[in-house]
Amino acid sequence: MGILDEDVRRVREATDLVELAREHVALRKVGRRWSGLCPFHNEKSPSFTINPEMGAYYCFGCQARGDAISFIREVEHLDFVGAVERLAANAGIQLRYDDANFSKERQRRQRLHEAVAAAIAFYHERLLTGDDGGLARRYLRSRGFDGDAARQFQLGYSPDGWDVVARHLQAQKFSREDLSDANLAFTNRANKMQDVFRGRLMFPIWDARGDAVGFGARTLSGEDGPKYKNTAETPIYRKSSLLYGLNWAKGEIVARGNVVICEGYTDVMAFHLAGVPQAVATCGTALADDHFVLLKNLARNITLAYDADAAGQAAAERCYTWEQRFEVQFQVADLPTGRDPGELWPAERDLISKSVEAVTPFLQFRLDRLLASSDTTTIEARARAANAAVEMIAAHPSDFVRDEYVMRAASALRLENVQRLRDEVDKVRKGGSASLGARRTANPNHAGEEQQRPYDRREIDALRWVVQAPHLVGQHVDLSVFSDPRLREAFELLFTSDSFDDAVARGDDRTVALLQRLAVEDTSVGSDKAEEVAKRVIVNAIEASSLRLLQSMLRASDIRSVEVKQLLDALVRERDLSNWDLAVPLADELVAWLASSETGVEPSDGPSGGTE
Ligand SMILES: [Zn+2]
Repeated sequence: MGILDEDVRRVREATDLVELAREHVALRKVGRRWSGLCPFHNEKSPSFTINPEMGAYYCFGCQARGDAISFIREVEHLDFVGAVERLAANAGIQLRYDDANFSKERQRRQRLHEAVAAAIAFYHERLLTGDDGGLARRYLRSRGFDGDAARQFQLGYSPDGWDVVARHLQAQKFSREDLSDANLAFTNRANKMQDVFRGRLMFPIWDARGDAVGFGARTLSGEDGPKYKNTAETPIYRKSSLLYGLNWAKGEIVARGNVVICEGYTDVMAFHLAGVPQAVATCGTALADDHFVLLKNLARNITLAYDADAAGQAAAERCYTWEQRFEVQFQVADLPTGRDPGELWPAERDLISKSVEAVTPFLQFRLDRLLASSDTTTIEARARAANAAVEMIAAHPSDFVRDEYVMRAASALRLENVQRLRDEVDKVRKGGSASLGARRTANPNHAGEEQQRPYDRREIDALRWVVQAPHLVGQHVDLSVFSDPRLREAFELLFTSDSFDDAVARGDDRTVALLQRLAVEDTSVGSDKAEEVAKRVIVNAIEASSLRLLQSMLRASDIRSVEVKQLLDALVRERDLSNWDLAVPLADELVAWLASSETGVEPSDGPSGGTE
């Protein structure tokens, strides 16, 4: 289900991978390849390589690989369809979808995005100029946010009427269904449309792609009850996979390798205004797995800018699980105890920016706080503090880290017997929670090739040419030329595919990784020596496999080995004289023998065809 294959192919062909990658990576031309520092891992010397003719990239450092579509997927964190749509828009290609429902679903979502965007514009205008927006404006000013801030974050005011927004949007040709599906209005008992948000300060929320999805809305009345109300779950608003501010922060998060996570909309605003543009916030929910699916490819380094201790031990253990599962590291911003960034703005602007420079590892933050608040005057009180510290330390998955903190706790609590504390930690771990055993999961997109056995140089040379210049070598090379099962698999995949892209789409991960690497490795394909080099590659590979065939025929006392030996001797002679035009037909005959040795069928133009 999705975009028609034919259209995906058109988009891929219409996209210049070098030009696309240049938006993210500085590239230098090396021979016919382009290379630069890899956007997918940190490195000092360039191992990211592009073969422009094939539209393929490969990183020799982290094995990231693929084509224009996978490149844009990874750097811009899009799904497949999103990536193709993005490239299609660049290339001016109108996409067709193979499933009418799917296409309808996309259109429906687009309509809801438009409805929310129209509501954002309406609320924003009302905040800036509406007579009834005064209370909201005064509130913002009291928090140190001026008109520029309101414009930067597109803040708004939802009028305190029954159906002000509903009427406005319906006049703009949005249907009742559009409004209720986007959770902007609902049908009340009188069968009238009624606004969801009334008399509130509106914080618009966009998804990572920058499409408008919903709102966080703060009450302006002094009444009791929750201060914030968020858009309910809709087809475009799923709070567990949204981060407020990610649309603005994405680039900065990647550039800095760090994301700052806070809890409130005004916290994000305060960070951005104080010069910390990599800040985001969860939207009315706690951090969850799905958030890391958004974040893990952006940054490995996560700074929590809220009271990371208040959430307690269970939350801490979840963080360790995430650290392992998503290969991220948590640290805690150095904020004054009990104060949020939004409360520090604007008077303590410097404290806000400095809080993310001075960070503390997550466990240290919690342990220090525990130790600082513990009564250590009596033996009993120290024992209680030690027990709490043991629980805290035991949750950390690393032996080394635990040991560091065991010693830290022992010294703070003036415990002579460190080993005793260590044993206690081990005891808790043995009876501990299953979540501690979470295993590291490798990023499947970067799964490397099998690195065990090196490939035969002549075989891998031949396969590289099959990948890059099938028109020069294709008709001379046969599956039987390859003895290595990994290369055989790759050749067979190519041979049975319509194109390289087709092979990439069909192959298993390991084989595709091999093909994509071969696609960017240096060859003289395209140079004026290409044809001669191709012949040499063919002859060398076939010589090696023919020699193996000859040896096995001799072992089996196969009398036909005489004919193979004659051919092989002739091939070696011509090869030594660099008579490639004579060597290649001999190689072709040997390939026929090789193929027959696998299939059991005599080569049709083999021995009887005569080489005398
Ligand atoms: Zn890399």
